Order: sequence, then C-alpha cells, then structure tokens
Amino acid sequence: MHEPVQSELEELLQGRLAAGKRPAVEAHLAACAECAAELRQMRLYSGVMRSLRAPAAPELSAGFYARVMERVEAQGMPSFWNLLLDPIFGQRLVYATGAMLLLMASFLLATSGNQPELAQTPVQVMAQPAEAPRAVQAGFGDDMQRDRERFLATMASFSE
Ligand SMILES: [Zn+2]
Repeated sequence: MHEPVQSELEELLQGRLAAGKRPAVEAHLAACAECAAELRQMRLYSGVMRSLRAPAAPELSAGFYARVMERVEAQGMPSFWNLLLDPIFGQRLVYATGAMLLLMASFLLATSGNQPELAQTPVQVMAQPAEAPRAVQAGFGDDMQRDRERFLATMASFSE
C-alpha cells in the first residue's frame, strides 16, 4: 500500500515528480506518518550528504540516499564485532597473531641461553626459572639478557 508512493518519494525529493502524480503522493504523505517520516529522513540525509560532499564530487542521486537508508535499516550499522566476524578480516587477524607468536617464540628460543636444545616449546621455555645457571648464562652476556627482558616488556604492552 506504501509501495507506489515510496518509489515516488525520490522524484518528489528531486523535484522531478510528474504534476499528475503529485496530488496522490501528497495526499498519501498527509495521511501516512510512516512515509512522511521517511521523506523527512531522506531530506535530512541528502542535506547532510550535500554539506559533506567535496565541490568536485559528482552529483549523487536521491536514489543513492534511499539505498543507503535501506541498507542501514536492513542490516544495522556495522559494528566492531561484525568486523571481527568478517571472514577475511578475521583470517588476517589470525595470521597476524600467529606471526607475532612465532616471532616471539623464536626470539625466546634464540635467547634462552640455559636451553641449548630447541625441542622445547615456547611455553616450556617461558616456564623456566628466571635465574639460569651462571655457567650457562656466561656465554650469552648481560646485554642479551637485558634485550630479552625489553622484548618481553614490549610484547606485553602490545597485547594490552
Ligand atoms: Zn505510506
């Protein structure tokens, strides 16, 4: 029952509505709060879009605003969580996190002087007591130990 009028709203908004259709549309708008509200919203959106638009940008038709509004009403505004659920974005996030963990693990393995064999998992390496035996640590020097601590602090601040 709204449909024939709804499609006329864009033309009305652009001032292109045929004179013969005008009385019927205006009568419906006077009687139908829903369509009248939609027309007001379309005017508002087009006014906002026009004020934001750069001077060189091509003229956007009223149909564009109607389509945007339809999408917004149908789907709701995209939220941060929807972004996370986006398969491509989520995949990149997983790859990035995996690469970060791999980097961290290999750095810990390379700098943990008290464990020469690399069969240890990163969790086991991190579970080692902070104080390594002096004799083993001597080969790696104090700078390496300090760098390792600085790296761990950096990683901790990243994950916050
Ligand atoms: Zn209506």
